[in-house]
Order: sequence, then C-alpha cells, then structure tokens
Amino acid sequence: MIPGARLVLLGRQGAGKGTQCVRLSRHLVIPHISTGDMLRAAVREGTPLGVMAKAVIDAGGLVGDDIMIGLVSERLEQDDARVRGYILDGFPRTVGQAISLDEVAAKRPLDMVVDLVVPRELVLDRLSARRVCRDCGANYQVSGIEPAQWSCENCGGDVVQRDDDTPDAINRRLDLYETQTQPLIDYYGQSGRLVQIDGVGSPDEVFDRLTKGVEQRR
Ligand SMILES: [Zn+2]
Repeated sequence: MIPGARLVLLGRQGAGKGTQCVRLSRHLVIPHISTGDMLRAAVREGTPLGVMAKAVIDAGGLVGDDIMIGLVSERLEQDDARVRGYILDGFPRTVGQAISLDEVAAKRPLDMVVDLVVPRELVLDRLSARRVCRDCGANYQVSGIEPAQWSCENCGGDVVQRDDDTPDAINRRLDLYETQTQPLIDYYGQSGRLVQIDGVGSPDEVFDRLTKGVEQRR
C-alpha cells in the first residue's frame, strides 16, 4: 500500500494540470484540492469565508490571499487531508501565498512541489485550438474538418471559441503566469522541494512520468 503524500502541482494553463491532478489523486488515494472548486463551493454554501468572497466577487474584485489561505487552511484540517495528505491544484500562485501555506501546513509540511513543464509555444497552440461548449463546458480541439455550425457531442449545445482564448488574451495570461510563477519555482527549488516533470506527450505518457517522479522522491 502506498502511503499518502502532500503535494502541490504547478503548470501553465493548457499543460493538462487539472486532468493529471485528478489521476494522481486517485493513484495516491489522496484528496484533490482545487482552490477554484473550493471557492465556488464556499460561495454556494454560504460559509463565513464564502460570504466574504462573494462580497469581493460581486464588487468586481479578486478574492485576496487572506480568504484563499483561510479556505485552504480549513480544508487541510479535515480528516482525509490530515491522515492521507493532499494534492493542491491552483494554489499557491505567488511566493506570498507559498510562505503562508508553509505556515498553515507547519505541522504536516509539504513533501514536494511538482512542476509540469510544457513549452509556451505548445500551450499557446493548444489554447488557440480550444473550443468550448457554451452549455456544458466540454472542451474540444480544432482539427480543421469542423462544420460551420458545431454542436456538442454531449448536449447538442453550440461549440465556440471562448472570448478569452484569442492569441492576445492567451499571451497575457501566460505572461502573468510566468511573472508570478517563476519566483515560486525558485522558492521551492531553493528549499529542495521541487520536482520538474516533462509535460509534453500523451496524457498517459505524462502520467507515467509524473507517478515515477513522485515515487522516486518518497
Ligand atoms: Zn455540451
């Protein structure tokens, strides 16, 4: 039986991080903690932090570090995360958040931080070719043989390009990621917790490298 682990998975948008997080959480039998999902759930359920977050979102602001750290800290104290560990997805994004995470996780510190490395040009191509169902959110990739009016295989909804998937908008998001994340990678590298995994290839190939990289470190 594989013991649990406490992990963070980093990677550019379009690197396939979400899918690999889900697979890795099943493989290691640890909860997958997506801060985006957690934030939406807290708002929906109207928890004290959710109410604070909703006020910020409704005012058009970005939810600040205090609320995000509060959510993560509450989640890490739940039984499954205390006993088995966790895989954090979408957090931390900045060195400031990483320092706060080390503080709230001081009793049971992070084992490792995995960086899924995919060249910028590749994710730019993937994101530019991405189309999304307007109704159910299913993702598709353009292959060049699509009908003019493209319908979703799941629900029959319209398949369209997201407004923020234009090359300009994608480049801005990738720039922001690099500005914020390079210092984060340096921070974890300096403390000897960073594992870099080549994220180019089929999802199965990448998952195989990911599990080998994680097992080697334990
Ligand atoms: Zn659909």
